[in-house]
Amino acid sequence: MKKILVGTHNTGKFKEIAYLLSKKYKKISPLELKIKSPKETGNSFKSNAKLKVKFFSKFVDYAVISDDSGLCIKALNNRPGIFSARLAKKHGSFYKAMKFILKKLKNKKNRNAFFKCSLSYKNEKGKITTVQGNLSGKISMKIKGKKGFGYDPIFIPKGEVVTFGQMPKLKKIKMDHRFLAFKKLKKKVKI
Ligand code: IMP
Repeated sequence: MKKILVGTHNTGKFKEIAYLLSKKYKKISPLELKIKSPKETGNSFKSNAKLKVKFFSKFVDYAVISDDSGLCIKALNNRPGIFSARLAKKHGSFYKAMKFILKKLKNKKNRNAFFKCSLSYKNEKGKITTVQGNLSGKISMKIKGKKGFGYDPIFIPKGEVVTFGQMPKLKKIKMDHRFLAFKKLKKKVKI
C-alpha cells in the first residue's frame, strides 16, 4: 500500500486530511515517526505550508501533505491569521482564545471572518504543489458546540445558522477551507 505522511501534529487536522485522501494511501502521522514540528517562520499561510512539507519530507521517501491554516477576522485586520495556533498557546487554551476574540468583537458591527488553508503536497519525486482554500463566514456571539476542533465553536460558515462546533463533523469536513483547497489540489495532481 502507498504511504503518505500527513504532516501535522494537530489531531483535528490529521483526521480531516486523512478523510479527504484516497483509501489507497496508508496515512502516516509525524507522531508515529517521532518527528517534531518545524518552527513556523514564514510570513504567510503559503510559505508556512511549503516550509512544513519540505521539513517533513526530509524524514521519508514517500509523498507528504501539510497545511497551514487559520482564522482571519476582518475587524481585527485579519488576525489571528497565521498566528491562530500561537494565540491559543498564548492564552492557554482555544476556549480562552475564543473568549478573547469575542471580547475584542463586542462592540464591532462587522463580524465577518474567513478560514484560510494553504495546502502543500510533495510527491515522491520531490515536486511541490501548493493551493489555497478560503471559506467565508462570521464570528458567532457566543461559543457554541462541542464538535470539531480549534476555533470551530465561534465560526458560522456563510449560508449556515450554526457554528462548525454544532455541525455534524462530516458536514464540516465536506465544506471547509481544507476541503476547498483539496478540491483544487485534485485538479492539479494525481492524488
Ligand atoms: P497551524 O496551521 O498548525 O499553524 O494551526 C492553525 C490553527 O488554526 C490551529 O490553531 C487550528 O486549530 C486553527 N484552525 C485551522 N483550521 C481550523 C478549522 O477547520 N477549525 C478550527 N480551527 C482551525
